[in-house]
Amino acid sequence: MTLLRIELVTIGDELLLGYTIDSNAAYIARTLAEIGVQVVRRATVGDDVDAIAAALRDALDRTGAVITTGGLGPTADDRTRTAIASVFGRILRRDDVLVARMEERFRALGRPMPPNNVVQAMVPEGARVLQNRHGTAPGLWLEDARGRWVAVLPGVPREMRGMVNDTLLPILRERAGADGAVVLSRTLRTTGIGESALAELLGPDGGDTVDGVPLAYLPGWAGVDLRLTVRGLPHDQATHTLDHAAAKLYARAGRYIYGEGDADLADVVLALCRARGLHIATAESCTGGMLGARITAIPGSSDVYVGGVVAYDNRIKEQLLDVPAELLRTEGAVSEAVAKRMASGVCARLGTEIGVAITGIAGPGGGTPEKPVGTVWTAVHVDGAAHAVGRRYVGDREEIRQRSAQAALDMIR
Ligand code: ATP
Ligand code: MG
Repeated sequence: MTLLRIELVTIGDELLLGYTIDSNAAYIARTLAEIGVQVVRRATVGDDVDAIAAALRDALDRTGAVITTGGLGPTADDRTRTAIASVFGRILRRDDVLVARMEERFRALGRPMPPNNVVQAMVPEGARVLQNRHGTAPGLWLEDARGRWVAVLPGVPREMRGMVNDTLLPILRERAGADGAVVLSRTLRTTGIGESALAELLGPDGGDTVDGVPLAYLPGWAGVDLRLTVRGLPHDQATHTLDHAAAKLYARAGRYIYGEGDADLADVVLALCRARGLHIATAESCTGGMLGARITAIPGSSDVYVGGVVAYDNRIKEQLLDVPAELLRTEGAVSEAVAKRMASGVCARLGTEIGVAITGIAGPGGGTPEKPVGTVWTAVHVDGAAHAVGRRYVGDREEIRQRSAQAALDMIR
């Protein structure tokens, strides 16, 4: 099984300056993988004819198959067309059919075509025009005598995506060959366990592969994502192999896995509670409502979530959550006992089956030797009793708060 190998060249000063994240490259790589086309190298260059031409020549010499995005617009900073024509040694000619089509497009929008746009109808000799149903700039396909090719797409992500799906995928599917080899991934999302503990759990070899399928560990504040990737197999076989490997992961680490793909733990918890007719109330100190925000971001959360108390100051913990002043004095606000009382208090006050509480030190100040920055207690009150877990998170203030909200959701789960 072979995969078609290609290179990507994304074009635009704003990409180099860091003002635009190169989402085009990510989209193209992910989309093409599914039809067995593998991006083996990426380059980004500015809006400069020489830079674009140099990147193209290099990529053509190495791989002979290139996709570019950007710089096809009507303005003076759009130079891709000129660069491509020079690399292939072709003259740019005005395509009158294209001009007519573009004029038609503008007429449909009820305004005349600006004269600048005629540039977009300049086509290198011998190039195939790739239709753009989502904007004015058409794409181009150029091939030289040795069969090396470049597909030129616009930079606007929506137009680029449309053209990839409408015109490029069919062309590349043919070139990728009839064997139909693909690259497929499956991502299992874990939380509540660190990367190294997870690796230990998954295998004596550190769990780099599962049944020969490469496994990547992707840590973030939500937890560690486990991504399995299969390359160069036909679609059916790839799916089967992934299912097998995923089943092994579930068998070994299932209790830490809360979902797949882009699953959101808040969504998972809401579904579990909804199925059991349970309601949630939140009491938050250091997260200041973040947990409530995570939950209410999910459409339909109102049939499970009733509301919460942001109990930042101790006075609020006492007055609205009935945490005894004595306890706050003796144990401190960041303690197992206070976390439990907060959870029980919000449960009683808001009349829910589940109360969840977070109290911690998000930093950067406020830490002590006994309770350093990152110390967080989360508690859940359910079935008449409160349970608490104390953790010490690393990261900046934002990360500590996000990890705390995620841990609280996981406790409910
Ligand atoms: P236009 O006709 O709009 O000028 P174009 O083909 O010339 O289209 P660019 O000018 O390079 O494309 O980019 C147009 C818009 O698309 C810009 O707002 C830019 O931020 C965005 N864009 C360009 N390239 C990328 C990329 N690789 N990833 C994400 N966004 C991009
Ligand atoms: Mg432009």
